[in-house]
Formats: sequence, C-alpha cells, structure tokens
Amino acid sequence: MLKCPNCKSKDIGKIGVNQYYCWGCFIELSVSKGQIFTHQVEEDGSLSSLDDLFSDDDRTISM
Ligand SMILES: [Zn+2]
Repeated sequence: MLKCPNCKSKDIGKIGVNQYYCWGCFIELSVSKGQIFTHQVEEDGSLSSLDDLFSDDDRTISM
C-alpha cells in the first residue's frame, strides 16, 4: 500500500503510469524501483523535487 512520505496519508490517487497524487497534502508522487519520488506542483505548473525532505527509509515502499 502506497503511503505519502510527507503526510502519511493513504489517500493517494493514481494519475498515470507510476504516478500518483496525494489528496492529503497535494503533492505528486512517482514510483520507480521501489522508491517514491516526491514533487510539488508550483504555481506556474512546474514541478520541484521534495525528495531532500525525506530519508531513504521514508521513500522506500514497504510491501
Ligand atoms: Zn501527502
């Protein structure tokens, strides 16, 4: 089960192949090779990475 590393919400919507959206804190999540990558959508529509805010543990998907 995918869990948001930012707000720990499980309210995650799928928006594309390996791409998800957290309805808890409104960030985009993408998944690759068992790791979650986090992105914030800026006002101009660009994405900025939030990965620095989380430890590798937080970003690893636990099955
Ligand atoms: Zn979240």
